[in-house]
Amino acid sequence: MVINGNLAKMTLVNKFLNWTIRASTSSILCPIYVFKRMAFSEKSIPILYYHRVSPHAVESVNPEFFEQQIRWLKKENYRFISLKEYFSEKDENYFWKQNNVLLTFDEGYEDNYLYAYPVLKRYKATCTIFLATYYVDNECIMPWHEFQPSANEYFRMLSWDQIKEMSEFGIEFGSHTVNHPDLTSLDDAELREELWKSRKTIKTHIGKSVNFLCYPFGWYSKRVIDVAKEVGYKGACSSIYGLNRRDVPSFELRRIYIGTKIQTLFDFYKRVIGAYDIPIYIYQKLFTREIPRLE
Ligand SMILES: [Zn+2]
Repeated sequence: MVINGNLAKMTLVNKFLNWTIRASTSSILCPIYVFKRMAFSEKSIPILYYHRVSPHAVESVNPEFFEQQIRWLKKENYRFISLKEYFSEKDENYFWKQNNVLLTFDEGYEDNYLYAYPVLKRYKATCTIFLATYYVDNECIMPWHEFQPSANEYFRMLSWDQIKEMSEFGIEFGSHTVNHPDLTSLDDAELREELWKSRKTIKTHIGKSVNFLCYPFGWYSKRVIDVAKEVGYKGACSSIYGLNRRDVPSFELRRIYIGTKIQTLFDFYKRVIGAYDIPIYIYQKLFTREIPRLE
């Protein structure tokens, strides 16, 4: 009881701090970030990350709001690029003078195909979808859905046919491992298997090489990075919050989560320009496992 009470108190304190830090500093910092974006010649790159786009499911972005976000990015002359383009152009100076943006989706829910893909096609935009290959074409829902109400049709994952169709259109696919485990808890053999097997499985189905990884839960370590490099990955997305400057390491790309908390285009805009970067980074550093200390 005592432990539970303390935990509940901790969670409340965390929530309170999280909310206060975000709400106060993002509004104060917003004009500074707008100025910074206008004044400096090098532009940091937002990699946005979504899970779901659906009118039905909980914890998902409404398709209409998703379309508004894409339309706004287009209007602001953002260029939608893949991770392949990011890595092939990032050493060029011109690259850091453009408005580039990357969209990423984790897990591979079927709603990515049903609701996000048509919008992306309409606006000639692209994205990268990270697949946990065990769940593709599988009736099995993700483990954390077990406790959800029994609306299984809303938890369907992508099929290989849908993946192939999107890949042919130009959507990029990356690895989110096979089983979506905490990679830092695996022994070397298990870790290697999770990393190479998913890469190979996706390549077999889409006929294109898979060079980018996304860490499940955003948890990684130096050992995870070393093995990922060893099995051939060229870069990886973390869940560290923020924009990417030129010096962000290839295996620790930062991302900006776009979830249900974002209700207005102005809030979306503040995130894209980096107004939330500092407060959320501090929060992550203090309270989460998403920013590991790499020895
Ligand atoms: Zn995930």
